[in-house]
Amino acid sequence: MIDIMLDRWFNGLLELIWPKVCIVCRKNLKNIASIDNIICKECWGKIKRNLPPFCYSCGRHLESKDLSQHHCVDCRKRKFHFDRAFSPCVYEGVLKKLIHAFKYEGKDYLGKILSTLMIDFIREYNLPIEEMDYLIPLPLHKTRLREREFNQAEILSRYLAKEFNKPILNNVLLRHRLSPSQTELDINKRWLNVQGSFSIDKTNYNYYIENKNILLIDDVLTTGATSSAAAATLKAAGAKIVFVLTLAN
Ligand SMILES: [Zn+2]
Ligand SMILES: [Zn+2]
Repeated sequence: MIDIMLDRWFNGLLELIWPKVCIVCRKNLKNIASIDNIICKECWGKIKRNLPPFCYSCGRHLESKDLSQHHCVDCRKRKFHFDRAFSPCVYEGVLKKLIHAFKYEGKDYLGKILSTLMIDFIREYNLPIEEMDYLIPLPLHKTRLREREFNQAEILSRYLAKEFNKPILNNVLLRHRLSPSQTELDINKRWLNVQGSFSIDKTNYNYYIENKNILLIDDVLTTGATSSAAAATLKAAGAKIVFVLTLAN
C-alpha cells in the first residue's frame, strides 16, 4: 500500500517537473489523446500516407499518366538490383521529424510506434510477407553504429519479426566501407558512393542466402542507391527475391 502511494506520489511529481508532451507539437499529453504517450493523435494523423497505385520498382505513388507503364518516370531510366520497394509513408513533415529524432537524437523508443506504420501497410496491401525467408536490416558501418549506438533498421526489423514470426538475419550482410552520409551528397554522387559498400560474410553464406527470399528493412528510401547496392550483393550471393520495405520514400 505504501509502495503504491509512493509510486503515485513519485509519478505525480515527475509529471509536474517533466510533463509528457507531444514530441512534435509539444502540447501537454495529459488531457489529449495520444499514441503511447509519445505523440498526440492530431500530429500522428498528419503523417502523409503513400497511396496506390505504386510504381512497380521504387514503390512511390504513380501518377495517372504513368499508370499504363507501371513505372514512374525516374524508374524508367534506371534499374535497381532489388525486385521492388515498398513504403507506407511519404518522407516529409511530421514523419520526417520523427525519423530524425529516431535516428539522430537517440530516441530508439520511437521504433515501436513507427514500426506499426509498416505492419499496417503489410496487412493492408497484402505484401507477400509469408513468402519471405528472412528480414535483413540494412546494416550500418560499425563507426556509424558506434556514433548512434543502435541501428534504427534493426529496431524496426525486430518489431516486424515479432509480428509476422519471421527470422532476422544479422551479421551476414556486412557494410565494410564508411561512406560520407548519403544526405551530404548530391544524387549522382550517391550512386557512385555506395557501389561496393556491402559484402557477404563468407562463412556459410550459401546456406543463408542462396535461393532465399529476402526483405531488406530500412527507414527511408531516397534515391534507392543504398538498398540497390545491398540487393546487388545479396543477388550475387544467390538470393532469389529481394524486396525492400522502408518507413517512407
Ligand atoms: Zn502533437
Ligand atoms: Zn519508381
